Amino acid sequence: MKTLLTREELNQGVARMAGQIHDRYADRQLTIISVLTGSMVLVADLIREIDLPMRLGVIEASSYRGATTTRGELTINAKPMLDITGRDVLLVDDIFDTGHTLVKVIEKMQEFNPASVRSAVLLRKHGRQEVQAVPDFVAFDIPDEFVVGYGLDYEDLYRNLPYLAALEEHDLDHHKKLVEVHKS
Ligand code: 5GP
Ligand code: MG
Ligand code: MG
Repeated sequence: MKTLLTREELNQGVARMAGQIHDRYADRQLTIISVLTGSMVLVADLIREIDLPMRLGVIEASSYRGATTTRGELTINAKPMLDITGRDVLLVDDIFDTGHTLVKVIEKMQEFNPASVRSAVLLRKHGRQEVQAVPDFVAFDIPDEFVVGYGLDYEDLYRNLPYLAALEEHDLDHHKKLVEVHKS
């Protein structure tokens, strides 16, 4: 695996984005909605850098996908979400790739009539966007590579890496072994 962002770089980028969020909302109360599962690590770090009154909730967005560029079917589950009616909502997701996930989640939010909806992502992948919408806050722009760590997975593994890494061809052999060990 090739490290793209170290632990220190991630910390700095998240703190920088937290400052921008803080300044934008000034003294308003925030409702953070974490898009599961990829944003868990980011959200845990981000909210502790924002000194504003805030509520924290989750929404689930899942689409099956491997280390390829093909998109699976996207499903949104808003059942576990906090009440957001009349609230200033900040959606937090791990990565803005084609952008379809964020657009769908924002549409879902609108059904509950929030006062406002903005979005923050850890990563924006270069040259991949297929939608008009853009995230309001972006910590890092990265090249078009499949990345894992700091919450992001490949087949549900690697979310716990404290750094962000690009998966390379030879990592896939190691990955297959991890999967096989589990099955045996
Ligand atoms: P989008 O709908 O913007 O194309 O994709 C968003 C979702 O796809 C992300 O929330 C993430 O779950 C997944 N995704 C997109 N690119 C990557 C990547 O490079 N690595 C990982 N682990 N997931 C990705
Ligand atoms: Mg996701
Ligand atoms: Mg994933």
